[in-house]
Amino acid sequence: MIKAPGEVRDMVEVVVSEFEPHLWSEGMTPFEVLISTVLSQKTERRGTRRAFLHLKKGLGINPTALARADEDAIAELIKPAGLYRSKAPKIKAIALSVLELYGGDLTAVLELPEQEARVRLMALPGVGPKTADVVLSFVARKAVLPVDVHIFRIAERWHAVGKEARYEEVRAALESAVPPEMRLAAHLALIEFGREICVARKPKCSICMVNAVCPSAFTF
Ligand code: SF4
Repeated sequence: MIKAPGEVRDMVEVVVSEFEPHLWSEGMTPFEVLISTVLSQKTERRGTRRAFLHLKKGLGINPTALARADEDAIAELIKPAGLYRSKAPKIKAIALSVLELYGGDLTAVLELPEQEARVRLMALPGVGPKTADVVLSFVARKAVLPVDVHIFRIAERWHAVGKEARYEEVRAALESAVPPEMRLAAHLALIEFGREICVARKPKCSICMVNAVCPSAFTF
């Protein structure tokens, strides 16, 4: 049975109270947050960070530099990130589009109403709903709750959504449970919780702070 939003909210609150937020976007430009999120696709945090720093040092992370850059040069620099060969052309294409459509500056897009900004971001090459939501949440501070692979898994295990739920369903279910002012903290805390406790294989149910109310506790 699907849990009521109030029950999910209670579980999120427990998790938020246990995990320090890791606000990795501090000091970054909107374009850097966008590129960092592309680099993070199917990549752990350390690989993402290394790829980001290599790219920043090697070419600079701004639309002009990356639009001019050779795809192979980008790929070489972002090797610590997974799927670097497919991410390199994506990064160059995003840079070209941001330059052509917005003169290299995403600020005006991020000032648009949430849904319009989301549509514009998702129109950029290779930018899916999660990447758009991260930029909206971290940079524009819109009240969205981006769903990464950890949050997806947790939402299923908590029965916040059904088994075959897709991205938009998971996001909507969590946003209906978590009040706007808590969504960024919830995103950050749930990711840490998914990395440390509710891990993909062999979740640590015996030390989990929500095991008394989790419908999947001790079923693995
Ligand atoms: S009890 Fe187990 S399955 Fe449920 S949230 Fe905790 S770690 Fe995950």
